[in-house]
Amino acid sequence: MKALCWYGVNDVRIEHVPDPQILNDRDAIIKITSTAICGSDLHLLDGYMPTMEKGDILGHEPMGEVVEVGRGVSNLKVGDRVVVPFTICCGECFFCKKGLFSCCDNSNPNAEVARKVMGHATAGLFGYSHLTGGFAGGQAEYLRVPFADVGPIKVPDELPDEKVLFLSDVYPTGYMAAENAEIENGDTVAVWGCGPVGQFAMKSARLLGAERIIAIDDVPERLEMAQRESGAETINFDDENVYETLQAMTHGRGPDRCIDAVGCEALSGGMPDGIIDAIKTATFMATDRAHVLRQAIWSCRKGGTISVPGVYVGAGDKLPIGSLMNKGLTLRTGQTHMPKYMPKCLELIQNGDIDPSFIITHEVPLDDAPQMYSTFKNKEDGCIKVVLKPGMSSNGNGHNGMTVH
Ligand SMILES: [Zn+2]
Ligand SMILES: [Zn+2]
Repeated sequence: MKALCWYGVNDVRIEHVPDPQILNDRDAIIKITSTAICGSDLHLLDGYMPTMEKGDILGHEPMGEVVEVGRGVSNLKVGDRVVVPFTICCGECFFCKKGLFSCCDNSNPNAEVARKVMGHATAGLFGYSHLTGGFAGGQAEYLRVPFADVGPIKVPDELPDEKVLFLSDVYPTGYMAAENAEIENGDTVAVWGCGPVGQFAMKSARLLGAERIIAIDDVPERLEMAQRESGAETINFDDENVYETLQAMTHGRGPDRCIDAVGCEALSGGMPDGIIDAIKTATFMATDRAHVLRQAIWSCRKGGTISVPGVYVGAGDKLPIGSLMNKGLTLRTGQTHMPKYMPKCLELIQNGDIDPSFIITHEVPLDDAPQMYSTFKNKEDGCIKVVLKPGMSSNGNGHNGMTVH
């Protein structure tokens, strides 16, 4: 099959690789019809994520058709159309039983490495380094899905791929971020980062009762999208002091809820003992990115809530913990507990409360993925979200894909 493989910094290629096989009874094989590039894939492209190996297949936002199931998968059959979540969860461990699926204890075969980095290992992820299990990703023609009886959600034929694909990550992630923000009717919610997760957090915040939404970014087309799609007021942090502007907009009280949909650039270095060194050597960048969480703590109103869907990996510094404590703030975090949120989000799509396809700016053949990584990374051509279609043919020049905008 064809797959998008990682070879090093800014080096991803379409390669022919062996088709995936059923390895365990609870596996399924999916023929991919649509798959997206995620902002977090750029950490891999930039070479910041440790434990990548040459030839690793990227991608964790896939959907498609079931073409093979293991003997232990009774809820899926060949021909079913499914969306596959980015996290892999067993459904049976202490954490899965509590609905804390992204904390699954059984899905990361490299748990010992992860434990050394974070204190405890979390769930395995598709296409996201060997630290998270070394699972082949979904930017390919086929995908092996472990624990296929737990993660994938069946989607009805009448909903096109574009409406349901983002159930794989960014829509439930934005939804959980808004839920974690503990929004009450009439609240003002500030959202740092207007990429896809930020956009879905804003849409979800509105559904959960937010009266005012304030979007913070420096990419004009993302701010325009937030304004158009979620009725957000906007702050371009290149032009304005974010803290001062937020206070002025809220009569000095500060936003009730703050969502950090930016996170920290993933860390460089090789193995766990290199993590602290990596932070030290990359201090400028780490400090720059931790700035968002610091700013959210400073800006939030007393007794408010800060929700962090943005990905952090290692250690951040200079967090104003005195402000966090004395202002009585609540801080809520986590990778998304996907199987808990996917049915709810699908229901909202089916009811017409949301059409997640609004974030798509580019839809191209899988063959054009290497060029699109570059377009996406450099935010060229208004690029906010890229969908790759393995079934779409390419003329080889990388420019025949549809630019949706
Ligand atoms: Zn993603
Ligand atoms: Zn589990």
